[in-house]
Amino acid sequence: MAYLLKHPDDYTSALHRSEELKTLAEPYLTMRSQIPSGMELSADYEERRRHILHSFSATQTEWEDWHWQMKHRVTDVDTLAQLLPLEASELDVIAKTAQNYRWAVSPYYLSLIDSTNPLDPIRLQALPSLPELDDNFGEDDPMGEALTSPAPCITRRYPDRLIINVTNMCAMYCRHCQRRRNIGETDRHEPKNQLKSALEYIRNNPEIRDVLITGGDALLLSDQTLNWLLAELHAIPHVEIKRIGTRVPVTLPMRITDELVHILANYPPIYINTQYNHPKEVTLASKKAIDRLITAGVVMGNQAVLLKGINNEPHVMKKLNQELLKIRVRPYYIFHAKNVKGTRHFVPRIQDGLAIMDQLRGQTSGLAIPTYILNAPKGGGKTPLLPQYLLHLKGNRAILRTWEGKIVDYTTP
Ligand SMILES: *Cc1c(COP(=O)(O)O)cnc(C)c1O
Ligand code: SF4
Repeated sequence: MAYLLKHPDDYTSALHRSEELKTLAEPYLTMRSQIPSGMELSADYEERRRHILHSFSATQTEWEDWHWQMKHRVTDVDTLAQLLPLEASELDVIAKTAQNYRWAVSPYYLSLIDSTNPLDPIRLQALPSLPELDDNFGEDDPMGEALTSPAPCITRRYPDRLIINVTNMCAMYCRHCQRRRNIGETDRHEPKNQLKSALEYIRNNPEIRDVLITGGDALLLSDQTLNWLLAELHAIPHVEIKRIGTRVPVTLPMRITDELVHILANYPPIYINTQYNHPKEVTLASKKAIDRLITAGVVMGNQAVLLKGINNEPHVMKKLNQELLKIRVRPYYIFHAKNVKGTRHFVPRIQDGLAIMDQLRGQTSGLAIPTYILNAPKGGGKTPLLPQYLLHLKGNRAILRTWEGKIVDYTTP
């Protein structure tokens, strides 16, 4: 056991190294406390929420009812003006943009807005702004999704899995939405006969082992329809896993009711991917929704969208991912925002995404590191992007760059 007896010099160098590592941790620790988080909302948050409740003459029980939240989604500036202290000019901008693009925000998500900060990350995602009217940019359907539907409601782009689009409804119409063209003027769930045709397609194609139910927001379906759809999928032997795409844990956490949890628990394995984009969205109410989903045996993941002015900064993305791990949501993807009409002001540079990935690897838990994905144009599919770590590879000799930027040689036998 002689190797356990360290020479005093070993401790000296290890201590020196740990001092070095401590220094590396410092810039983030300094920044972390300045990035707002949903678990430490500012003192006026509760006051704002009470004001919104009061303006609707609503009770706390109504607030916690997702049907009440949906019925009271804010969709016009007159109501908004009563709920948040915004300037007349700010309201004008919203009204003007709304002539081209609809908007709707759940009272819950609205209550997270800090209206004194025009750059509040919740506000930027929720309330319309003039740059949306910039018409000289992007397409309605940069993914070519319209061309990949072999059956009603289905998008198929990969060998063994596909998407069923069940609704175009969402609790909030995110200003950066990558599926804007689907979010029409009227809310619409897909009729049952369309869903039946989609199920028929899945039954007839045994290579489909993974079905992703999405929209819109899949969890805006009624409990009854969800129960029926999940049961139908569960009964197909080759469907090994079911996935649900939903933003309700972020925008409408009260949707995760006991009844819903009971339904989900009946059809394992279910994976739910949601979309948190900023640590401010990780609130206590949201955490409670995630806790309930996990009791149903659901495995949670996060698909953030990399958005200029919201999260295209390494410390913000690091804090987001660390906050997510604390509530048992595993960061899965960071999507580079697509060139969708009306969202130019959100589209970051690829360099931003690479800098974030570079500052995550090694600096924090591997669990907090998602895959950075750029969707290739024209439906080319998800394409991973990574900073360069393999600088050279020829025969058995590789030159690597470590997470700290050291250049090292590696030779295989
Ligand atoms: C994103 C996507 C999937 C799921 O892809 P994963 O990388 O497995 O998460 C499946 N089908 C379509 C059409 C998609 O766009
Ligand atoms: S929840 Fe998703 S689909 Fe709905 S508006 Fe937001 S980004 Fe778009």
